[in-house]
Amino acid sequence: MPTLPLSIQNLVDHFTTLPGIGPKTAEKLVFFLLKRPPKDLHDFGSALSSIADNVQLCSICQNFTNQNPCEICSNPRRDKNTICVVADPLDLLALENTHNFRGTYHVLGHNINPLEGITPNDIRIRELIQRIEKTDPKISEVILALDANTEGETTALYLARLLRKYHVKITRIGKGLPMGSDMEYADSVTLSNALEGRREI
Ligand SMILES: [Zn+2]
Repeated sequence: MPTLPLSIQNLVDHFTTLPGIGPKTAEKLVFFLLKRPPKDLHDFGSALSSIADNVQLCSICQNFTNQNPCEICSNPRRDKNTICVVADPLDLLALENTHNFRGTYHVLGHNINPLEGITPNDIRIRELIQRIEKTDPKISEVILALDANTEGETTALYLARLLRKYHVKITRIGKGLPMGSDMEYADSVTLSNALEGRREI
């Protein structure tokens, strides 16, 4: 069986570490890249290096950012006393695209998912608690904007129970979000409605 040149095989192996990319797709992608001008490949490589070198987690909301605190957390026009909790950065992006939320966020990194071995200790709940304890004046509302599926539900219930002792208003968006749906794929109107229709839990 013919083998690929080492540098090509090396890149194929990197591609196969990405979700949904098997060896055949990885090979196709690499051969597609090989048809591009060398400058494009260097730019692609630099873009990858740049996220390794320049992207960090915001120390307040735990979202990916080029500056710390991130643009949202350092924006004086955002309401720092309302925290919208999301599972991942794409959910935050979807909510930002509604242009209908003026509070701040907290990115957990993942939903609790016992089947995948993701426990409450594996997501950024500790950072959320510290933020709620430290923010002065007190946080007025925590909005749980978690996916309308089993994992999102599990995470929301866990957080609602955990946060009860902080006497903060806890609301959950979900109305209007189809059951089983991922936040990041909901359209802006649906998300805006869900946000406005949030209910205290
Ligand atoms: Zn931030």
